[in-house]
Amino acid sequence: MYDYLVVGAGLYGAVFAHEARKKGKKVLVVDKRPHIAGNVYTEKLEGIHVHKYGAHIFHTNNEQVWNYVTQFAKFNRFTNSPVANYKGELYSLPFNMYTFHKMWGVITPEEAQKKIEEQKKQAGITNPGNLEEQAISLVGTDIYEKLIKGYTEKQWGRACKDLPSFIIKRLPVRFTFDNNYFNALYQGIPVGGYTRLVENLLDGIEVRLNTDYLEDKAALDAMADRVIYTGPIDAYFDYRLGYLEYRSVRFENEVLDQENFQGNAAVNYTDRETPWTRIIEHKWFEFGRDEEGNTLPKTVISREYSAEWKPGDEPYYPVNDEKNESLYQAYKALAEKESRVIFGGRLGEYRYYDMDAVIASALSMCKQELTS
Ligand code: FAD
Ligand code: UDP
Repeated sequence: MYDYLVVGAGLYGAVFAHEARKKGKKVLVVDKRPHIAGNVYTEKLEGIHVHKYGAHIFHTNNEQVWNYVTQFAKFNRFTNSPVANYKGELYSLPFNMYTFHKMWGVITPEEAQKKIEEQKKQAGITNPGNLEEQAISLVGTDIYEKLIKGYTEKQWGRACKDLPSFIIKRLPVRFTFDNNYFNALYQGIPVGGYTRLVENLLDGIEVRLNTDYLEDKAALDAMADRVIYTGPIDAYFDYRLGYLEYRSVRFENEVLDQENFQGNAAVNYTDRETPWTRIIEHKWFEFGRDEEGNTLPKTVISREYSAEWKPGDEPYYPVNDEKNESLYQAYKALAEKESRVIFGGRLGEYRYYDMDAVIASALSMCKQELTS
């Protein structure tokens, strides 16, 4: 009945479905959740688009991806500038001259670099081999202790010494006064929310929600020639080689009868003792106004608590350490034998992908799959 069955209505699945339909293919999309858009799903509450599965800021250096995604939504000019709260002391993020000035009172980039060099030398790091050493060699011990150690250990549930250094390299370190969290040419939030963006991608495509592919695999497989699977790769194989590890996140959402709770979209709590990692105040992704430009009397906040994933939880962050990477490679070898199925996306490829990378990966797969 269908050329393609797409499992998962997140960005990867929606981009593929859109492109396949454009090529005249018949596509069915299924998702086990009661809504489309996967983890970028937004829901309107008190006039505010609430990011239900964690704050999502679109940012990219990939012009092709930017031109692609802006066909489906207009983006606002939001620039992410989280504030770090360490036991009541506030610091600018990412690590830049404002952070260094607040931490050490330094005025010039040269003074800041000197301070970091001193601390790196004192710690005796020459060739950083893990996240702790990488962080200290980038920003020194003071910033590591106050702004990285507690947050990272809460976020990943592991000691910084046991984590790969690439995780901290996601964050820019700048010797300029620039609080933009991302080094990206293009950045913003889709006006009308991410759900609308995905709705536009899926326009004209049949979508069945509340449908778990793995629970009804044989029947669904029989309906299509090929399958695009964007769920967890280990779940597809019924965990037969063991469980890939994820970090999960619990969101505690609150509607507050006040206009402004924290004055910023994101405040990170970087000490070890505060149980949450960060608080998101969603209205500031849209400058505190609804689509008609009205200010909003209430606000919605989400506290994020990081947790180890266990079967039944939502998998959020793949833990790309050596142990999990080699297990993933073993699953990938099994996946390659499934000739009718393509595994894609954050869960299907077990990759710590940002949205732009997921879109790029889906577009490159489309090029291969839909032109052959
Ligand atoms: P998903 O969005 O996870 O979609 C997979 C879909 O498959 C889901 O809807 C799921 O329900 C469905 N599914 C799974 N198994 C089955 C099954 N058996 N049957 C049917 N359906 C199934 N990226 C950024 O660029 N900027 C950010 O600020 C950012 N913030 C993030 C914050 C958090 C907390 C997290 C976790 C991620 C963040 N990301 C961010 C990354 C971004 O969420 C992902 O890159 C993107 O959403 C992945 O899209 P996807 O389609 O691969 O996966
Ligand atoms: N990080 C940190 N302190 C912060 C923010 C981030 O130590 O205030 C570290 C943490 O290890 C995190 C990594 O930097 O996992 C990458 O941060 P990013 O914001 O990119 O993580 P995301 O939530 O987008 O995955």
